[in-house]
Amino acid sequence: METVLIALTAAGVAAGSYVAWRWWRALTEVAGGLAGLGRGEKARVVRTVAIGPLGELVRAYNAAAAEVQARTDRLERDRQQLTVVLEAMAEAVLAVDPRHRLLFANAGANRLFGLDAHSVGRLVPELIRSPQVQAAVEATLQLVSPSAYQSEVSLPGRDGSVRTPGRILSVRGTPLPGQPSAGAVLVFRDMTELRRLERMRQDFVANASHELKTPLASIKAYTETLLDWALHDETVNVRFLERIDEQVGRLNQLVLDLLSLARLESGQEVFDHQPLNLVPVLESCVEAHQGRASAKNLSLAFEPGDLDQEVLVMADEEAVRQVADNLIDNAIKYTPENGSVRVRCIARRDTITLEVWDTGIGIPRDDLPRIFERFYRVDKARSRALGGTGLGLSIVKHVVQSIGGKIEVSSRVGSGSRFTVHLPRCVAALRPGSAVGPAPQAAVGPRSSGGLP
Ligand code: ADP
Repeated sequence: METVLIALTAAGVAAGSYVAWRWWRALTEVAGGLAGLGRGEKARVVRTVAIGPLGELVRAYNAAAAEVQARTDRLERDRQQLTVVLEAMAEAVLAVDPRHRLLFANAGANRLFGLDAHSVGRLVPELIRSPQVQAAVEATLQLVSPSAYQSEVSLPGRDGSVRTPGRILSVRGTPLPGQPSAGAVLVFRDMTELRRLERMRQDFVANASHELKTPLASIKAYTETLLDWALHDETVNVRFLERIDEQVGRLNQLVLDLLSLARLESGQEVFDHQPLNLVPVLESCVEAHQGRASAKNLSLAFEPGDLDQEVLVMADEEAVRQVADNLIDNAIKYTPENGSVRVRCIARRDTITLEVWDTGIGIPRDDLPRIFERFYRVDKARSRALGGTGLGLSIVKHVVQSIGGKIEVSSRVGSGSRFTVHLPRCVAALRPGSAVGPAPQAAVGPRSSGGLP
């Protein structure tokens, strides 16, 4: 009997200890789980089975932990999406607290203002040394949500260097919610390229109008003089009519060039690039200019170079003619009497190089990068006197780009100029070629030009 009592007591103590241990374990796990949630760790599930009020506590904890975890996951996902959106934005985004400290800068802002991960927390006026940006931050911080601040600011080039020229930025500032506001968000959009294009369009309209006005004014003056008194004066009337005819020719050429340029720029000029044998095309272009060359006593010759067999380029014949005609025409125009103009071909691995080379007046080094711009002329009066419109090289550049080629120019004042056009080759045959390294150079190719000059 005594033995049975001892056994029952021992069993009771063991069962009691086991239940106490399970209670202790469940409570410890719940406490640990809550502490983990407080530290922002992933929610832990309490697996220890408990009954009664402790069982309810464990179940309530597990449900709350699962809900907290789901919300945290959702927030994290939203945060990641927001980060991707902000980083992918071309615009620069800055968030600033009321004391002008940087809260956030996206990749665009880092690039634009030269910021990095260490910039967060620092004062914006120290990071971005622009009074205009500072004024925008200040003005936005004064606002009350939902109003917004909008303006345009210009940012000086970094370190005053030419490699990082100044930018024009549009800025939109919005105060962060809160009473008082928790700060401001400013979004900067780079308008430099847009403004440049707008200016170019305005310049183009102004230049085109001026170019049209000049011959029209001459025509008007000659016509009025003829009507006033010169119509029946045999000594001057024919000369005046010839001048009018000249000016009409100029106007006609100008309109043709403008139309050609407009078609090229709008993509309406559809070229049919096919394998083309370059040599006969160039021969006929040179032939067509022989009359004008000999009128100036210039020697004009085509040197097919090492193209002793049929070499094909991938280009539209009309496009190649337009390029060659313009370059030969300029070479003749800008080469004084008794000079020479050469048209050459050089075969390279992937390209055929066409060179138009002259012993003319040459182009000053500073003007070289600009001569492919519309209406740009080194000497306006000389170009006009020679019947130039200032559009020839711009047309050439666009045509070469549409062929997938590249044009370069090298020149020396008083010695002459060389225009080199690289055209895509059609056959894979290897032919050695050589190029003379010219002095000052400018090049335009499909990749080198952003926007139209
Ligand atoms: P233009 O109708 O005035 O010739 P282009 O666009 O063909 O216009 O050429 C632009 C300018 O480039 C010319 O006005 C001239 O100053 C310069 N230029 C072009 N080709 C030559 C050349 N072969 N020699 C010297 N200057 C040239």
